Amino acid sequence: MKKIKACFSATYYAPTPTASMKKLPLVAAEVQRLGYAELIDPGSIDPEILAQLHDPDYVKQFCTGEGRMACSQGWAWTPEIRNGVLAINAGQIRAAEIARKEGFAANIGQGFHHAGYSSGGGFCTFNGIALVAKQYPKIKVGVLDCDEHQGNGTADFTNRFENLYNFTIHGTSFGAPEYPRSINRELPAITNNFKLYLESLEEGFLQIQSWGIELLIYQAGADPHIDDPLNSLGMTSEQMFQRDRMVFEFIKRSKIPSFFVLAGGYQSPLETKLVPLHVQTFRAAHEVLNTNLTMLN
Ligand SMILES: [Zn+2]
Repeated sequence: MKKIKACFSATYYAPTPTASMKKLPLVAAEVQRLGYAELIDPGSIDPEILAQLHDPDYVKQFCTGEGRMACSQGWAWTPEIRNGVLAINAGQIRAAEIARKEGFAANIGQGFHHAGYSSGGGFCTFNGIALVAKQYPKIKVGVLDCDEHQGNGTADFTNRFENLYNFTIHGTSFGAPEYPRSINRELPAITNNFKLYLESLEEGFLQIQSWGIELLIYQAGADPHIDDPLNSLGMTSEQMFQRDRMVFEFIKRSKIPSFFVLAGGYQSPLETKLVPLHVQTFRAAHEVLNTNLTMLN
């Protein structure tokens, strides 16, 4: 069985107040142990690259820890968080390279979609989705954002990068309006009406195809889960697994080079409640893509 190439290094870890960067080594170890993924160390990103994406003063404050924007994502600044965020964003670029070359990849990182041009927000420091669009200006980069929360930072960045496209299906709005290349689907609790979620997913697939997306990022949030303290969508573990499978089946069918990332998830204990939700995304990818990996090449 072919393994998913997944970017990760021990540097991704930081003892963040939320599960955000604490959960990453647990997910990486488990998907490696289960044989779903092969881990690839992406190194660290040059902050100069991030200064072409965000306000250079914001990037400088975050990298030095000096200035009030250094903790704008919601955590007190530490060198571990700085180093982890730089490594995770290197993972975005590396995963995009692998996806472009081989069809599919993953980054066991998170913390992107609320970050705007001049500050972080909602536990997101730099917008690693927009980063990919900046790195590949000649191709259409799209995100299918399936977090509990709206990808408002990415929505704003679609106004800065003409090749960036955002389709966000969420329960909780962060106030971004729709833009020509950014679509919102805000849903009520779907525990007993999962059809509604599936319809939005299908609509997202059609939109991605009609936009002509050439590199797709799937943001597999774990916070829509019914037991998550921040959820409103009320998805069961089984519904989330079905969500993941449908997305990977679309990727396989459409042959669009793609990679997936983790996103929100705030349950504890991490090992028994949260990590299994991220691991099942890898299981879904591994099962769906391994039925015929050659069609991705
Ligand atoms: Zn979220």
